[in-house]
Amino acid sequence: MARYGMVIDIARCSGCYNCFLACKDEHCGQDYPGYAAAQPMTGQFWMNIIEKERGQYPKVKLADIPVPCMHCEDAPCVKSAKGGAVYSRPDGIVIIDPAKAEGQKQIVSSCPYGVIYWNGEKNLPQKCTLCAHLLDAGWKEPRCVEMCPTGALAFGDLDDPASEVSRLIASGAAESLHPEYGLKEKVVYIGLPKKFVAGMVVLGDTDECAEGATVTLTGSGRNMTVTTDTFGDFEFEGLADDTDYIVIIKAKGYKPKEIPVKTTSDVYLGVIKL
Ligand code: SF4
Ligand code: SF4
Repeated sequence: MARYGMVIDIARCSGCYNCFLACKDEHCGQDYPGYAAAQPMTGQFWMNIIEKERGQYPKVKLADIPVPCMHCEDAPCVKSAKGGAVYSRPDGIVIIDPAKAEGQKQIVSSCPYGVIYWNGEKNLPQKCTLCAHLLDAGWKEPRCVEMCPTGALAFGDLDDPASEVSRLIASGAAESLHPEYGLKEKVVYIGLPKKFVAGMVVLGDTDECAEGATVTLTGSGRNMTVTTDTFGDFEFEGLADDTDYIVIIKAKGYKPKEIPVKTTSDVYLGVIKL
């Protein structure tokens, strides 16, 4: 028996909303008895795209984070439901039984990810089913995965070491969206936005962009060095939250400059004159 999971690569997601539309196309206006009642056209986002903006002008970055149900192994939604109305299948898919869950509004607030929606018309909590009705019919992947044009969504058997999802997880780059929840999520991410430190180096006497200056960032056991580009720009990505670092800038013929930074947010140091 497979144990299904998904790995979402944020760097590959272009924010095209194809996954969102594929989910709507599959689930709106169609009941799948035993799996889910029809998803309403509006108000529910079983595949929700969160747009995350980081940095300050002129250094602003945008990431799109697709968020379906995480099909957690330690799922609080399962625990909150009465009469087995939410259950984890042997293949790991978490299903809200559309008959048993009627009237159980408490299920909605049990999910810390906020991916369960209340259908007021049907008096029913609803969410992503990982397209279990399709998988049971022999499909190899859910509709959202099939429709992603950039390959940002990988789906497969977490217990098969040869599957793409297992390979991506084995690379060590995958992490859950909220590890602090401790839910053993089976949907995990690669390339989630972290903190960055960036700036632009200028030669103080000429006001020219300092191309080729050496910029080193140290702190938290890390030591990274980059070289400024034609515009004097530099950047360090993937940094930890709330951490103290020191940026050291060196250019031949100029006095080195040290700047302490703390990544409580993304840091754009602006124009730095040597
Ligand atoms: S993400 Fe939320 S709804 Fe999905 S299994 Fe986990 S707790 Fe339940
Ligand atoms: S797996 Fe199916 S139900 Fe879940 S978000 Fe994708 S298309 Fe929607």
